[in-house]
Amino acid sequence: MARAEVNRAHAAADTPGPDRAPTPALLEVEDLSVFFAVEHGRLLRAVDEVSFSVGRGEVLGLVGESGCGKTTVAKCIVGQITPTTGTLLFEGRKLGSQRRAEDRRAIQMVFQDPYSSLNPRMSVRQVLRELLRVHHLVPSSGIERRCRELMDLVGLPADALDGLPSQFSGGQRQRIAIARALAVEPQVIIADEPVSALDVSVQATILRLFEDLNSRLGLTIVFISHNLAVVRRLSGRVAVMYLGRIVEEGDRESVFSDPRHPYTRALLGAAPRLHQTELARPSVKGEPPSPIDIPPGCPFHPRCPRAEAVCSADRPVLESVQTGAWHLAACHFRHEAALNAQGAMPLPEPEETSESAEEAP
Ligand code: SF4
Repeated sequence: MARAEVNRAHAAADTPGPDRAPTPALLEVEDLSVFFAVEHGRLLRAVDEVSFSVGRGEVLGLVGESGCGKTTVAKCIVGQITPTTGTLLFEGRKLGSQRRAEDRRAIQMVFQDPYSSLNPRMSVRQVLRELLRVHHLVPSSGIERRCRELMDLVGLPADALDGLPSQFSGGQRQRIAIARALAVEPQVIIADEPVSALDVSVQATILRLFEDLNSRLGLTIVFISHNLAVVRRLSGRVAVMYLGRIVEEGDRESVFSDPRHPYTRALLGAAPRLHQTELARPSVKGEPPSPIDIPPGCPFHPRCPRAEAVCSADRPVLESVQTGAWHLAACHFRHEAALNAQGAMPLPEPEETSESAEEAP
């Protein structure tokens, strides 16, 4: 089934199945490609025909090594990068480069480094008040109360409103960045490696905050991470990217317990812990090819332990593996039970840490 058809099928889905995602789509990405011109007229294919959808209130984990294109996808969704080709839909409406104010507000991004995204000269109160005033979200008389509510939502005391970014710890700054995103009442948060720059001791507390916001506010979250342990904890559905493409996608348990793409197996074999700041090296030979010189056929074939002649000739498309769950893989041998014989590697659960690890502002 073509992916656009799959996305449309989401809207009509009442029950999950191998060709239907479990929830109607709120955000749809269809055949998204981002190419950059480089020297000698060649193209760097940062993102190549990526399609997925996210349902209202769903958490989708987007995982892959550094440089696989996941941040570029995120920047397209929030309008920071104009895609070369492809379509973005929000509530069924097309999102172009000129977006309506409510569409810009509806999709907010939380970045890896909260400090660089905060104005060092503005107190938390000034940041939030300005946003609330510009977007006319509450009457003037209600702005202070809303600022305090936002602090409460992200687990900070009301007196944190008086502080400057430099007065907070890394975890607290990330909470402030999340409060700023929530101030404009988004429906979707794109969280790009939001815990990877944080100290080990506070990563789990920020993950708990995202879980809490998802359940309390029904927020839809696209959670981008190199760390499979983090993605496993938060996400109901997972998409794995390699060289600008999605190579496997499915329900969390299906992907983690029954991976059907050799690259996913390699990532699972690396089994990173929550506190790792870099993706453990996947257990496959060689380096990822350059996105300027992508191999023909299956882009993973030069490194794949299962590759056969067909793999260097024909590019596999993302298709159902028919496990009975929502599960797609881009591999000619996605139906083989042998392919996943070693893939069902239980990941360690993320370590819990104490909230007290974060310093008071
Ligand atoms: Fe490996 Fe071939 Fe599958 Fe690509 S199509 S992942 S090269 S087995």
